[in-house]
Amino acid sequence: MATLNDNYLKLKAGYLFPEIARRVNAFAEANPDAKIIRLGIGDVTEPLPAACRDAMVQAVEDMGNRDTFKGYGPEQGYAWLREKIAANDFQARGCEISADEIFISDGSKCDTGNILDIFGDDNIIAVTDPVYPVYVDTNVMAGHTGDANEKGEYGGLVYIPITAENNFTAAIPTQKVDLIYLCFPNNPTGATATQEHLTAWVEYAKANGSIILYDAAYEAFISDPSLPHSIYEIPGAKDCAIEFRSFSKTAGFTGTRCAFTVVPKTLTAKAKDGSDVELWKLWNRRQATKFNGVSYIIQRAAEAVYSEAGKAQVKALIQFYMENAQIIREQLTAAGLSVYGGENAPYVWVKTPQGLSSWDFFDKLLQTCNVVGTPGSGFGAAGEGYFRISAFNSRENVEEAMQRITAKFKV
Ligand code: PLP
Repeated sequence: MATLNDNYLKLKAGYLFPEIARRVNAFAEANPDAKIIRLGIGDVTEPLPAACRDAMVQAVEDMGNRDTFKGYGPEQGYAWLREKIAANDFQARGCEISADEIFISDGSKCDTGNILDIFGDDNIIAVTDPVYPVYVDTNVMAGHTGDANEKGEYGGLVYIPITAENNFTAAIPTQKVDLIYLCFPNNPTGATATQEHLTAWVEYAKANGSIILYDAAYEAFISDPSLPHSIYEIPGAKDCAIEFRSFSKTAGFTGTRCAFTVVPKTLTAKAKDGSDVELWKLWNRRQATKFNGVSYIIQRAAEAVYSEAGKAQVKALIQFYMENAQIIREQLTAAGLSVYGGENAPYVWVKTPQGLSSWDFFDKLLQTCNVVGTPGSGFGAAGEGYFRISAFNSRENVEEAMQRITAKFKV
């Protein structure tokens, strides 16, 4: 009889989004005339930049011509894309990252999960709380945790709270951890990390032989010039950090699928025999064995993000969402709510008023304003008492939702 990976049975069965759907559907059935506005989902709404679409059309033509047709590409991605990324995203910001340290993939979700393939099972793993759930669930699947308690915290993981009490910074642990997931700008809180904060993390990682798994999926939303966009802007980070980047939110690629992971060649971890082994070699081997690269057409679309037209279009796209975020911040503040984030990130993190729980606030907003957000407690125990509003929506929806809140919602 075949047996299964019992670790999957420890997973809390996708509680958050199904429960939101259940409550919204029940409300919609009972109130068929209500025009519900969903500001809960972290998916983009605006079309793909024209430069990317044009590049895709050209790439389709290439595929129709024997001379330019492409079969299997390099598992690591085409050199012309890796070179553009290295030059524009890293070297232009003073980071010594070379093209062959960049691995093109079909998403940061996959990469942040798959990276565990190259690490041992005996690492002490730290995540922030609240957290992007993929980091936690992939560790549960890999058998790196115990069971979840009633608050949803898994035994064996170290949780680092990021809340208003610590000004939304992830405090450096007092204990030794081996792998640390950091995400800045942060999903869900919209918090950012300063140069000093990341420097403290890099120093901690170097002192303890830890590896930082740095998710910078939202770096393009940073407008404050003092904030680092990449962990490699911090001296020494090449010896202790892997960085994940995605075109999903930067250029509207959530349905197009292209991302990349940076594994510096200087990065090592300990083998069982005590030797230091380059992580680059293992990740390269892992990708070459389990992945066959991203479609040529999609890589050409990603390359177009770095063209002059592409850069201007992406900038306009980000600006559009950040204007939404500004409207959300201003209107919620006017409604008497305490808001965080939304200045260098497309998420606004709201403190629930009157001590309401995240879910009670969800129900109240749904019933009084017919607006849907995401309860903070769904992202971790320390998210209780908070609520996430996403700026990824049409201007019309954002404005109407905010008008309803300021008109009807009384704190
Ligand atoms: N990392 C974070 C923090 C995210 O919020 C998301 C998507 O919501 C991802 C990664 C996934 O990105 P991708 O679409 O590249 O898989």
